Amino acid sequence: MGSDKQPTNLDQEEDPPNPSTALLSFDTDSADESTKPKASAAQRPAATVVLVSLILVTCVAVSAAGAFAFLFFSRPSPSAPAASSAAAAAAAPAASKASSSDSDSIETTARPLKKLQKPVVLLISSDGFRFGYQFKTATPNIGRLIANGTEAEAGLIPVFPTLTFPNHYSIVTGLYPAFHGIINNHFVDPHNGDTFTMGSHDPKWWLGEPLWETVVNHGLKAATYFWPGSEVNKGSWTCPEGYCRFYNGSVPFEERVDTVLKYFDMPSSEMPVFMTLYFEDPDHQGHQVGPDDPQITEAVANIDRMIGRLIEGLEKRGVFEDVNIIMVGDHGMVGTCDKKLIFLDDLKSWIDIPANWVQSHSPLLAIRPPSGVSPADVVQKMNEGLRSGKVMNGQYLKVYLKEDLPSRLHYVASDRIPPIIGLIDEGFKVEQKRTKHQECGGAHGYDNDIFSMRTIFIGHGPEFARGQKVPSFENVQIYNVVTSILKIQGAANNGTASFASSILLPSP
Ligand SMILES: [Zn+2]
Repeated sequence: MGSDKQPTNLDQEEDPPNPSTALLSFDTDSADESTKPKASAAQRPAATVVLVSLILVTCVAVSAAGAFAFLFFSRPSPSAPAASSAAAAAAAPAASKASSSDSDSIETTARPLKKLQKPVVLLISSDGFRFGYQFKTATPNIGRLIANGTEAEAGLIPVFPTLTFPNHYSIVTGLYPAFHGIINNHFVDPHNGDTFTMGSHDPKWWLGEPLWETVVNHGLKAATYFWPGSEVNKGSWTCPEGYCRFYNGSVPFEERVDTVLKYFDMPSSEMPVFMTLYFEDPDHQGHQVGPDDPQITEAVANIDRMIGRLIEGLEKRGVFEDVNIIMVGDHGMVGTCDKKLIFLDDLKSWIDIPANWVQSHSPLLAIRPPSGVSPADVVQKMNEGLRSGKVMNGQYLKVYLKEDLPSRLHYVASDRIPPIIGLIDEGFKVEQKRTKHQECGGAHGYDNDIFSMRTIFIGHGPEFARGQKVPSFENVQIYNVVTSILKIQGAANNGTASFASSILLPSP
């Protein structure tokens, strides 16, 4: 997000081409696509499982410690005793659960609503919240959601490319970028030359059915406080005044939280049942200073304060335990430095790649040569140069025809995706030509198999078991989770139909 606020992000997140739809192939694709990630997760070698278990035990111990610290240091409030005892009850099972690996949940069914008339989902995105950031500093409020809710134990897996717009729109449509159309943060339509940017609100770009549209289609209300695509008029969604805001990165986070809280003061007939809340941080800082800088620690602490403000406001209204809060990020972040560069101009002995063929350089290298130039020939010559040993860092880039990309990336079924895609190793970047600047920072957009690209998933509320850890999953599953909570029929998507029941408590 943040086209107006973060020009650096624009550069770093930039990308390629255009609209085609292939929407008709959803069902076929979803069947095989949604099962693949799960299958590969299940096939992890035992050694990895052991290692992951060890890491988890450590992580859970840390979060449990955090939860207890919270109990001791939190300020008593009218509802604190109940919440605290719940946290205490949950923290212990969570810890034992991780070591014994699982499923003795203390609850067997969803908890009844106490005050709200209908199920409500509040979907929160903290941009670029890399999985693990929650351990950078004390995060008592996020820790409270984790201890009393359901967490993806090793993080949420973004879609490829691990960029802001493609991922935010996958979260709300359940579709891979090839199907929802936002295949990059910016790209060119190969059919008419039109350019998509992060400020494009023409519905022609935004395919699929986002959650706010699904909700409104069912006669319910939705409200968005920023989310890529939410300003776009689609079907029955008209970005209505009072329930939808055009992106403005300068709105203080506190104001966003307070506005969302006010929805809970509305009469039930007016109250949105689906709400979004978006924070640019810590992505903003991550690009500038990389994931390990103290500025990130401060940004994470600030996001935690915002979650605390939200929880406090919901508690004041007596609805905290009634609201299903889903807190996610869109992708992670990895440190970059300018000695880890690959220059396209260094390939000139093999092939000249003019800058105007390149729709984005890093971390998604996307190239559309003019008609008349064979993409297969370009790929072959580029890889020949990259493997020659004569191109600086050439071994860290591999170039593909998009149809030859690993199928787990699901990055082929759209004309908008340029014919040539380069996969860059973690932390490396591709640039056109040598420059004098020498700087370090952070980036994302890489292969979604890279762990540093992972982000968080936390579900808290009546539909989520307390203290539950679930295996990592791709963010295209979230759409079905939300429609299940709201008990509405969703649109066709790439998520697995059975996923929601695997993560949510069954109805009483
Ligand atoms: Zn982002």
